[in-house]
Amino acid sequence: MSKETQAAIATEPTKIAILTSGGDAQGMNAVVRAVVRTAIHEGAEPYAVYDGWRGAVQGGDLIKKMEWSDVSGILSSGGTTIGTARCAEFRTRDGMRDAVKHLLELGIDRIVAIGGDGTLTGADDLRAQWPSLIDELVARGELDATTAAHHPKLHLAGVVGSIDNDLVGSDMTVGTDSALHRIIDAIDAISSTAASHQRTFIIEVMGRHCGYLALMSAIAGGCDYVFVPEMPPEDGWEEQICQKLREGRAAGRRDSLVIVAEGAQDRHGEAITATQVRDVLAERLGEDVRITSLGHVQRGGSPSAYDRWMSTLLGFNAALTVIHATPETEPCIIATRHNQIVSLPLMDAIRNTRAVATYMKDGEYEKAVSSRGSSYREMLAVFNTLSSAVLHERHLDAALGRKPRVAIVHAGGLAPGMNTAARAVVLLGLDRGFTMLGVDGGFPGLLEGKVRELTWGDVDGWSGAGGANLGTRRTIASVDQFYALSRSIETNTIDAIVMIGGFAGYQQVWAMEKEKDRYPAFRIPIVCVPASIDNNLPGADLSIGADTALNTNTRALDQIKQSASASQRCFVAETMGRRCGYLALMSGIASGAEQVYLYEKGITLHQLSDDAARMVHSFEAGRNLYLVVRNEDASEYYTSELMTQVFQAEGEGLFDVRTNRIGHMQQGGNPTPFDRTLAVQLAVSTVDELSKQFATGKIRGVYLGNYRGRMAVQPVSHMDEQTDMTNRLPYDPWWLDLTDVLYTVADPHFHETLHPVLQPLTPER
Ligand code: ADP
Repeated sequence: MSKETQAAIATEPTKIAILTSGGDAQGMNAVVRAVVRTAIHEGAEPYAVYDGWRGAVQGGDLIKKMEWSDVSGILSSGGTTIGTARCAEFRTRDGMRDAVKHLLELGIDRIVAIGGDGTLTGADDLRAQWPSLIDELVARGELDATTAAHHPKLHLAGVVGSIDNDLVGSDMTVGTDSALHRIIDAIDAISSTAASHQRTFIIEVMGRHCGYLALMSAIAGGCDYVFVPEMPPEDGWEEQICQKLREGRAAGRRDSLVIVAEGAQDRHGEAITATQVRDVLAERLGEDVRITSLGHVQRGGSPSAYDRWMSTLLGFNAALTVIHATPETEPCIIATRHNQIVSLPLMDAIRNTRAVATYMKDGEYEKAVSSRGSSYREMLAVFNTLSSAVLHERHLDAALGRKPRVAIVHAGGLAPGMNTAARAVVLLGLDRGFTMLGVDGGFPGLLEGKVRELTWGDVDGWSGAGGANLGTRRTIASVDQFYALSRSIETNTIDAIVMIGGFAGYQQVWAMEKEKDRYPAFRIPIVCVPASIDNNLPGADLSIGADTALNTNTRALDQIKQSASASQRCFVAETMGRRCGYLALMSGIASGAEQVYLYEKGITLHQLSDDAARMVHSFEAGRNLYLVVRNEDASEYYTSELMTQVFQAEGEGLFDVRTNRIGHMQQGGNPTPFDRTLAVQLAVSTVDELSKQFATGKIRGVYLGNYRGRMAVQPVSHMDEQTDMTNRLPYDPWWLDLTDVLYTVADPHFHETLHPVLQPLTPER
């Protein structure tokens, strides 16, 4: 090879391939889009390998260079637009050698592979055999020595695309959240018809080795019984399930819902099928029992907001990881843990995942459940408590000499999931032996003494209900009402308060904390549970309701975008959130907006002028839609209307501009699966904290939440150190750095230096 050719190879841009293989999953397109655009941002050349590994083995047209616009408009589509296939040849050495040849013909030595454990094992095999396959290709005269010398190693990052959520070490895989959306929509629909006829329904969900979908949908759907593969029921389960359903009916349930994972089995490794369960129930309960098998519906449809923004982050990080890999970089899986992005050693994660199937085959169910992580085990136990109408009476509180009376109160704006959280706190609290009370109408209701006892039957149906059955108020008690407030706490014999709500509630509890020396009634356990679509609460990375609002916005923005497809139009869409930009930014990422305006970043005239110029330029270049998302309180002066007028004026008739305020629908709707399971997790921590305080006598006010990768319980007295109490904003919003991710995938002219948003790996899962 000539010196010129050698020099040309040495200065070639980095080439990176992306492929989707194995089963498809919603959100794969978001990963592909993010990888392609992050690669372009970094000056690398992205290639799509079509139809999974088959594309690599066959080469030719199946490996295509991707341009910015090749991934336009795919964010909202389900499935994978670059295709997927199963490919037997890739498992052979000849097939792999062809794959290496086709990749190296284009100078590709970096791959982001999206798929399940099969896909990623195949990728790692290819990586391991890469050097010897290159030697073979050179020996056969199919590859020149210089090219071979320049690509001695395959750099590899995997992203797990699998609705089953079966990767050990990761919390959520791409597609799982969307699949849960499909299942919960079905359960909610079935539950209303089942209740009308007092029927029993069996719902079969996917999950051959992993019961995640089954368990989480049983929890989120407020179901009665669940069969998961990792924890087969004891022998005699036939009578046990009947007993449990009878108890539920006796306590007032009008329907019975049973979830069966497709891989469900008994203690002897024999399958438990939906039909079998139906026959048992029909015969022993003498009831009309119906089966709904959800099948491929679970894989289909538009990806949820989470599967769009989280997949975008995964793709962004995977691309940066392989593009900037050094000879020492090990193959990895870019995954999520506690809503943060982490990098896991690829083969360890696969090995641990495969071990679960072996444990199950060997009857080592405890090990199988443990491998899924501590929260999976905890959720299994929690499901059993939530679904049991018969309470385990616990001891009375020694200090009080009676059952502690725990009152639930909402405050602040409505957040979908408030009912789910209240239900879970009531059911888990009853199980601990507390008397549970509901306060109607927030803190004003408490002032008026609107306190009532809540039983299992009162709250059982609240799991998926939108709104707040107890009512919520933005108004809180002022300091001059504290005497009346303390009297109400005393006369209603309230021993603890659980405040499930937003900033107003936090301010109320903070103010009570400061006055507790004057009012002994305030010296009781008080727990603040974060519930606010604004997601602006201290000590909680995500609050209940924010995911539902985000999904509402994502759907609304999808439709707004569609409505513009016939004209040249810019939309200025306005989201709620008060001063907190979370909803606006994440809605922007999830809907593929071009620009977001946040209070935290400010808006200047200079910026509006630049943005208008960029808008004009892109419409001139053929664009017919430009979406900007503005947070409602982003600026006091540059309102949505004013911005609309500025863009309209600068557009000089090239495009028209419309304002679109999404409005109160953001507070409505039934809570998403994510918000329901978050509500249950927070309820578990709430009840644990109350039990601890009653047991130790160390009484304090706390606020809790998933905070920087762990469940944190913090004293109310520290609240103002984490939060700007006047502007209602946390001092350290974790999500603000994601603006760079949005610009990387939305703006071809964005040139800032990027940093991965990877978090260090925490040892505990
Ligand atoms: P998933 O990735 O969803 O687990 P599969 O197990 O079907 O789906 O794997 C997808 C593709 O990955 C297979 O068709 C095959 O081409 C490749 N593959 C799977 N396992 C291996 C392996 N052990 N070695 C090489 N390639 C593999």
